Amino acid sequence: MRLGRAHGTATRQARYSQLQRDREAAPKLRTMFPVVEQLRFELSFEGGGAATPVPQSHVLHPPARAFFSFPCPYADCDGRFELTAAVHAAVEDPSHRIEGVLECAGSRVSDFRSKPLCQLRLCFTLTAVCSPPY
Ligand SMILES: [Zn+2]
Repeated sequence: MRLGRAHGTATRQARYSQLQRDREAAPKLRTMFPVVEQLRFELSFEGGGAATPVPQSHVLHPPARAFFSFPCPYADCDGRFELTAAVHAAVEDPSHRIEGVLECAGSRVSDFRSKPLCQLRLCFTLTAVCSPPY
């Protein structure tokens, strides 16, 4: 087994293209949630030490893919944060707003010997803007 920088790069590219394929296979947001006009994700991170990733925000509109899987922001981590359940909860909840915390289950693949668990925590606020009931 060869170890080295190229291995990590290839793995990351493979993960990225898998993510792209999954996204392309997802239905449109308007198909999955006809009432949703906008989904807003506010993401912040904890537990990364000095190199904690910066907060992110994402907004999805009806023509976007209904794909709610966010790769861990660490370049050497193979984890993903799956927010599909949270999206369903936010759409169904009367407040259309869900907050929660997820822990990254990936491992930091740059350290081939020990592959330490990432355990980066994602604190998210998810807001669904829905069209008013008729
Ligand atoms: Zn991670």
